Amino acid sequence: MSKGFRMAVLVKQVPDTSSVAGVNPDGTVDRARAKKMMNPYDKYALQKALEIKSAYGGEIIVISMGPPPAIDILYEALEYGADKGYLLTDKQLAASDTLSTAYALYNVIQFLGKVDIVFTGLQTTDGDTAQTGPQIAERLDIPQVTYCEELEINNGRVRASRVIEGGKQWLDLPLPCLITVANSAGKIGHKRFANVYKMKELLRDKESLSKMVFVVSLADIGADPNLTGLAGSPTVVGKTWKLGEIGGSCVMFKGESPAHEVELLVNRLIENHCGIEELLK
Ligand SMILES: Cc1cc2nc3c(=O)[nH]c(=O)nc-3n(C[C@H](O)[C@H](O)[C@H](O)COP(=O)(O)OP(=O)(O)OC[C@H]3O[C@@H](n4cnc5c(N)ncnc54)[C@H](O)[C@@H]3O)c2cc1C
Repeated sequence: MSKGFRMAVLVKQVPDTSSVAGVNPDGTVDRARAKKMMNPYDKYALQKALEIKSAYGGEIIVISMGPPPAIDILYEALEYGADKGYLLTDKQLAASDTLSTAYALYNVIQFLGKVDIVFTGLQTTDGDTAQTGPQIAERLDIPQVTYCEELEINNGRVRASRVIEGGKQWLDLPLPCLITVANSAGKIGHKRFANVYKMKELLRDKESLSKMVFVVSLADIGADPNLTGLAGSPTVVGKTWKLGEIGGSCVMFKGESPAHEVELLVNRLIENHCGIEELLK
């Protein structure tokens, strides 16, 4: 067991935003067709864990729940400097909503034993609910900081800043805790050359890879299958649809000063009967 902090970072594989995901006729997202990538917000979470590891030492375990190809983002996280990865994959998990996703991921964390800090991204680019992290903290019964930007640890206590409207809020909390990392926190650096030996080892020898990345099922981690997948998901999606082309055009107002530009804009809104007259009364 290494010195420092034992950290779990949750990473999700999402459809690559540069590819066409599309929507199936039944309204579900056509995930199979889309290229995949690590949820971009999760890279901020991984970066925060890497910063804590480089400042205080410790171990970073990345966790993902998803179908077998999601293992690729665990390898990617190792390239950035994570130490180990766990993929929770199980047919029973299909159609999980956030409640059941949080339950499943909570069980992986419990399975790992003592964890000092759980990091998650702020939200995902597909589900986009930002619910998973807070729900896991509730299940683990540990304090949480959402929208975290800065983080330091002194004498076993965490001091963390979170983004709030118009400023920052500083919180002081004990370990263990869960942190959802804001996308205004530091961007992840390059894949680490320090890890080149680790990567060489991985590429050369499948056996060493099997000591760093583990694939587990619900039975392996002792999770109740009735609380996962469709069975454990009270959310019902009413309807989803693909947005059509969004029309419209952009008009730039060039004036002698910002005040003049605002005046030109307001006049145009009045001309176009945009309802601004009501607001100006
Ligand atoms: C009724 C319903 C049915 C669904 N069916 C399916 C389905 O069949 N297949 C499917 O793939 N999705 C399905 N989803 C979507 C899935 O439930 C969500 O993607 C999942 O609950 C996570 O929510 P989110 O994407 O909003 O994550 P957020 O809460 O926005 O994510 C916050 C952070 O939590 C962590 N996180 C979230 N999800 C994971 C994960 N899987 N692994 C590791 N870390 C994670 C990441 O750090 C992420 O940045 C369904 C959703 C609903 C509501």
